[in-house]
Amino acid sequence: MPLNAFSTHLTELAQADALRTRRVVESAQGPRLTVDGRNYLAFASNDYLGLANDARLIAAAKNAIYRYGVGAGASHMVSGHMTPHHELEIALARFMEMDSALYFGSGYAANLGILTSLASRGDNIFADKLNHACLNDGALLSNANFHRYAHGDLDKLRSLLALQANNASNGSRNIVVTDAVFSMDGDLADLPAILKLVEEFDALLVIDDAHGFGVLGETGRGSLDHFHLKSDRIVYMATLGKAAGGYGAFVAGQRDVIEWILQTARTYLFSTATPPMMAAALLESLKIIDEDRARRVHLHDLIARFTSSLKLKNCALKFSATAIQAIIIGENNHALYFADELKKRSIWVPAIRPPTVPRGTARLRVSLNAGHTQADVMELVVALTEIDASLLDAIK
Ligand SMILES: *Cc1c(COP(=O)(O)O)cnc(C)c1O
Repeated sequence: MPLNAFSTHLTELAQADALRTRRVVESAQGPRLTVDGRNYLAFASNDYLGLANDARLIAAAKNAIYRYGVGAGASHMVSGHMTPHHELEIALARFMEMDSALYFGSGYAANLGILTSLASRGDNIFADKLNHACLNDGALLSNANFHRYAHGDLDKLRSLLALQANNASNGSRNIVVTDAVFSMDGDLADLPAILKLVEEFDALLVIDDAHGFGVLGETGRGSLDHFHLKSDRIVYMATLGKAAGGYGAFVAGQRDVIEWILQTARTYLFSTATPPMMAAALLESLKIIDEDRARRVHLHDLIARFTSSLKLKNCALKFSATAIQAIIIGENNHALYFADELKKRSIWVPAIRPPTVPRGTARLRVSLNAGHTQADVMELVVALTEIDASLLDAIK
């Protein structure tokens, strides 16, 4: 294979305005980030509650480092399952009001582990087309039959489930998998309706609440709290690298389901346990999510301010009830123009382009953070309005 093929592919990406670059952040995470020595007002991270650099989490991690060191040294099943991991799993289960919970190294690893553990050849996985990439990867890796329905099309989901119900007196499992909050638009899945279908067709429901956990619901228990849902058929997964401000993810649910995942999820079994200091920091984070409700209330005030203030002529605004707000611009180069102009004003909002989002829907993805002030939000609104007004002249 000629190595210059890669160079050709890279040039093609660049020509399509699809080449991605990373920027090196020189400060800790927060509403303001330093890049190349310059300070930016940032709406770019998933640190929705502003906990990634919280002094209480730092103190908890420090104490744990002195006591437990830096590395876990082995997988959970060998000798890496340490007191902070154990306490975190108990606290997560209690917080979610579910039987048990498992703490995974990352959300990606959790979803691969959960889906390959619950489903195998002959089973059926039903998935929303806009689900996160790692849910799709987990479904493919499981070798189950993979049925995808158009975003939010529950009539289609019902007919797919009905079709398999007719086929399946053979004991195969039916598993519906959905993001609770879709990561590019911030919209919510209709979980109550999906759960009804799951119950009607004797299936399981795997929910990925990466962007709901900590943000939604009075207590921060996420989408289940928001919709007041409770069922042993729910396998609840959320990441701890977003609102919780740390790293990793967990799955919670009915005792036997979680025990089965513990026994069989290869990404749990064959991977070194996360550093114990991270579990200790997350225990602190969980306490803050539970007790410091003002932080969540402030975030929702910011969301309300942004969605009620912003009006643009050349973009489709997809306002949501979550910290993710999408401004659909369309062409890649238009989205890049917006991002560049914001950058000139020392504001950082990432432009998201295909293949992360569907072709022709390049966008800005605004993430609000409890560390922002109302004035920060208005600064963004004013800048976006100016750039929108200059777009048609600038792009010929
Ligand atoms: C971020 C994200 C993940 C991956 O979680 P990591 O802990 O970052 O690996 C999974 N699902 C969704 C919906 C996400 O947004």
